[in-house]
Amino acid sequence: MTNFLFGGLNICQRRTFRFESDLNMLDLLFVGGTLVTGCKDSNVVTNGVIGVSGGKIALIMEAPKYPQDLPEAKEIIKLDSEIIMPGLINTHCHAADSLFRGLVENMSLEDWLQDVWKAEKAILTPETTLLGSYLGLAENLLAGVTTVVDMFWYPFETAKASIDLGMRLCTGGTFMDFPGVGNRTHDQYLNEASDFCSKYHNAKTIFPAVMPHGTYTVGPEHLQEAKKIADEYKVVFSTHAAETRFEQTDIKERYGRSVIRHLDNLNILDDRAILAHCVHLDDYEKDLLKERKSVIAHNPLSNLKLGSGIAPVSDFLERDINVTVGTDGAISGNDLDMWLSMRLAATLPKGALMKPDIIPAKEVIRMVTSNGAKALGKSSEIGSLEIGKQADLIVISTESIHAAPLFDPITHLVYSTSKSDVRHVFIEGIQCVRDGSILNVNMQDILCEVRKLRNPILKSLE
Ligand SMILES: [Zn+2]
Repeated sequence: MTNFLFGGLNICQRRTFRFESDLNMLDLLFVGGTLVTGCKDSNVVTNGVIGVSGGKIALIMEAPKYPQDLPEAKEIIKLDSEIIMPGLINTHCHAADSLFRGLVENMSLEDWLQDVWKAEKAILTPETTLLGSYLGLAENLLAGVTTVVDMFWYPFETAKASIDLGMRLCTGGTFMDFPGVGNRTHDQYLNEASDFCSKYHNAKTIFPAVMPHGTYTVGPEHLQEAKKIADEYKVVFSTHAAETRFEQTDIKERYGRSVIRHLDNLNILDDRAILAHCVHLDDYEKDLLKERKSVIAHNPLSNLKLGSGIAPVSDFLERDINVTVGTDGAISGNDLDMWLSMRLAATLPKGALMKPDIIPAKEVIRMVTSNGAKALGKSSEIGSLEIGKQADLIVISTESIHAAPLFDPITHLVYSTSKSDVRHVFIEGIQCVRDGSILNVNMQDILCEVRKLRNPILKSLE
């Protein structure tokens, strides 16, 4: 009779398992490797074991001395020096914008958006959005992202791509006050947002949301109507906010208040509000975000490339604001790489403030895992390796030359790991990426169709 005890392990959830009564045959067992749990204390278990049953993590322990003491499992994955950690959560993306990567360059956000919208309007249909969504979501998945918060024009198509790939997705109706893609009216956008929430209200892997574009593209009444839908279904409300200085000046001129004050005045800020960017805020606005428990989706790469500025992340963390990390779309940052975004989130504040000791690496790990889960109201389900949570986990290779010697796995993950180091990805215990390849969708077919769009996309800006 073997008991699996957690005594002596400083892991998230101490529980004692009696194998015979608590654990029947496991579906999947990872044996070996280093576990980085992503929990509050960022625990590390060297030579660990994770058991998965019914899509959930059923067991976390140190590897026993004798192999015969391991529990039985239908599938056993033996690891050596690899790192296992929770799947990454990208809290701001426009996956289908991958169709336009590299098309609009060297412009400020305001000028850049004019060309982006022109190209999107000419090219995007539900069909091309589906293609672009496969493209962008697959890039995320290969990089170890298991959950994406995505804002785009045809949310049902993005949801289809996500479901086909086996990922988790938070998305929903987006809209602007002027005719955008599909020339839909505001009422049509609202109906779509409502229909999306209704369809996916109880879905396991699709988390519905309402996503008006921003305060400078959606008027106050329409923002409030969007918020009403989000409140009705108790789902995430996400919008761009305070991305540039110009935006702050523009909103002050229009409404007499800065962006965050404006959103607060409309009763939009609460713990279900995910605000993308938040680069230019005064102290009052930062305090407001803390008070309202709103979430920041920090997009350092996009902010740098568009010349928008550097978000005051250390001020947010000092206030205990929930800071998460996003890639933004590939048309602004040109790379849906959460590892690069993570590294920039870790290093930019040190450089900008000339303080090398701020923002510890373990804090950055939480930004891309458990903080994202909290932002989505899914802390009890995803975001860390804990017993009872969904088995969304990724296996990182440490065979590359930039991983030898390896002193500290957390430091390695934040400052040295590349997306190409992601070897396997599991979501709900189901493998979606094996040895760096997507399993569920034939990406060669998708790429063939995407390449056919190159010339029409180029012509869209003429
Ligand atoms: Zn964005």
